[in-house]
Amino acid sequence: MTSCCAPEGTFRRDEPLAMRTTFRIGGPAALFAEPAERDHFAAAYAEAVATGRPVYILGGGSNLLISDEGLDGVVLCTRNLASRRPERHGERLFVLAGTPLASVVNWSATHELAGLEGLVGIPGTVGGAIRMNAGGRNGCIGERVARLWSADRSGRICEKATSDVAWAYRSSDISDPVLAVEFQLRSEPGDAVSRRRREYLQAKSAAQPIRSHSAGCFFKNPEGASAGRLIEMAGLKGRRLGDACVSAKHANFIVNVGRARAADVLRLAQTVRERVRDLYGIGLESEVHCWPQTSL
Ligand SMILES: Cc1cc2nc3c(=O)[nH]c(=O)nc-3n(C[C@H](O)[C@H](O)[C@H](O)COP(=O)(O)OP(=O)(O)OC[C@H]3O[C@@H](n4cnc5c(N)ncnc54)[C@H](O)[C@@H]3O)c2cc1C
Repeated sequence: MTSCCAPEGTFRRDEPLAMRTTFRIGGPAALFAEPAERDHFAAAYAEAVATGRPVYILGGGSNLLISDEGLDGVVLCTRNLASRRPERHGERLFVLAGTPLASVVNWSATHELAGLEGLVGIPGTVGGAIRMNAGGRNGCIGERVARLWSADRSGRICEKATSDVAWAYRSSDISDPVLAVEFQLRSEPGDAVSRRRREYLQAKSAAQPIRSHSAGCFFKNPEGASAGRLIEMAGLKGRRLGDACVSAKHANFIVNVGRARAADVLRLAQTVRERVRDLYGIGLESEVHCWPQTSL
């Protein structure tokens, strides 16, 4: 399908971004758009690519650390590309990519559809979750995707089967904006799905600082080990740099306890990484995406 042109006035200049992230950190975007229709989004993506500047796709901003200086590029946000409620076709569920993940998890649980309840408590959008292959010990979202629709760099909307995507631990090879997705779920009559959803959420909120400003787990778990456990054993719980702090509740969360800057978070993350490497010989890899791309 070929997209149309993005309507006049689609792009805004110097859009503040901090409040669009769960960290509440980051400077403005030089150019910004949040189209509400799939074909407008695809067209805006082609226009953004044609500027030759870096292009960033923003969902719920819950896995991001944006530079204090902001972004000299184009940010396309999916938040207006949201379904009011999922479309159900038997055991399949269709949603637009900017839909909050939580609303789809809750909807499927109350409609006795199993498969997404393990993602309860993960903030952000469906599209962001797919790009990140979000999940945890109760499964990853990639396992539930039947097919998805994304825009390509020339503004066309393309359909992909889940087998076209390389799903990995907290990652995928998706580089273009995901616009919509269809999940394959499993009918499970009764209240078992809702019960599991509640139990998983209780366990998550008991273990993680889910109400603090953070981007979730900062580091990926190294093969066969827990990043949080390594950071805790290194005695770094509560370590603070400016207003960035290693959470006392879960050591793999760096939280913004006031007016932390991205530079504080990065320096603290670097300290954590060096300490863990010196003590245990393990190099922690960032799970959080830094914009512009920065290596620790
Ligand atoms: C309190 C807390 C708890 C968390 N718990 C978990 C957890 O249990 N498991 C887990 O996996 N994660 C967890 N996270 C991290 C985060 O919520 C997930 O990675 C989430 O799925 C990111 O979605 P988002 O819409 O916020 O993406 P964003 O943060 O906006 O973007 C993340 C990445 O995805 C890309 N992206 C976003 N939308 C799209 C799109 N439509 N198409 C293509 N690329 C896109 C962005 O360009 C960026 O590279 C947690 C975060 C917080 C703050």
